[in-house]
Amino acid sequence: MKHIKDFMQQFKNLREMMAVYSDEAKCREYMEQMRWGGNPTCPYCGMNKPYKLKDGKRYRCRDSQCKRNFTVTIGTVFEDSKVKLSVWMAALYLCTAHKKGVSSHQLARDLGITQKTAWFVLHRVRLLMGDPEPDVPLDNVVEVDETYVGGKWENMNRKRLKHHRETGKDNKTAVMGLLERDGKARLTVIGKNSFKDVVRANVAPSANVYTDAHLGYVGLAGEYQSHEAVNHNIKEFKRGQVYTNSIEGFFSVFKRTIFGTYHLVSPKHLHRYCAETSYRFNSRKMTDAERFKIALSNTEGRLTYNQLIDKK
Ligand SMILES: [Zn+2]
Repeated sequence: MKHIKDFMQQFKNLREMMAVYSDEAKCREYMEQMRWGGNPTCPYCGMNKPYKLKDGKRYRCRDSQCKRNFTVTIGTVFEDSKVKLSVWMAALYLCTAHKKGVSSHQLARDLGITQKTAWFVLHRVRLLMGDPEPDVPLDNVVEVDETYVGGKWENMNRKRLKHHRETGKDNKTAVMGLLERDGKARLTVIGKNSFKDVVRANVAPSANVYTDAHLGYVGLAGEYQSHEAVNHNIKEFKRGQVYTNSIEGFFSVFKRTIFGTYHLVSPKHLHRYCAETSYRFNSRKMTDAERFKIALSNTEGRLTYNQLIDKK
């Protein structure tokens, strides 16, 4: 982990980072250090100590059966792209540092790349902003609530609007928010699952679960340490420790992000924005450099939030 600590001490802002990592060779060196820790490994067969080719980028596997060429970006989200590593690094920094995210138009202007490239880069970067511990359930006190996103007439293109009128379908997508008090939060598209299925998939049975009075949650009491509901219909919002205000606050951040930064999010991509907003929330106490680092390490999944936090 030494190189991680060194890296964090290197820069405090984008300008400092760009001063060091505007050079392709430096970026490559850094990524190699990040991924292999000074011990390059063939991504195809796992053999160490490859030959370095003359171009300074590629390696050739020394295994006589394999003999394949590879670079440090093979098998990562940076694979197969003509985008420079320095652009990736700057984009990743901008996306992780900005509280409400960056639009592809903004990123294109900031980095002097086309909007099409920026769009591609953003979608790849978003993959890095997932939960590094998706299988660890929320526990202790967990607030759960649901919200509905999209469906605004003015946000629809003509084709969708026509389809909407013909089918008469409600265009909104249901999203569930789950938040462990003083811990992590998750947003997830409910889709065809039942409310209870989503809770079961994300919350440990030892938790105390607080929801609103929606019928979809009825029956959870038998499966959890406890389940209590506040009834918003009769203007009950708080009963001692039983409330869902934290998750409602998180929803408002989510909606500001979607409408403020991205303006329009199609249901097809909504789950990615859910992941991005959760990531921002869960890393809110980190410095920009730490957030950058966590996202970059997701290319290999080597570093978790807990490992980083324990380090301090
Ligand atoms: Zn190999």
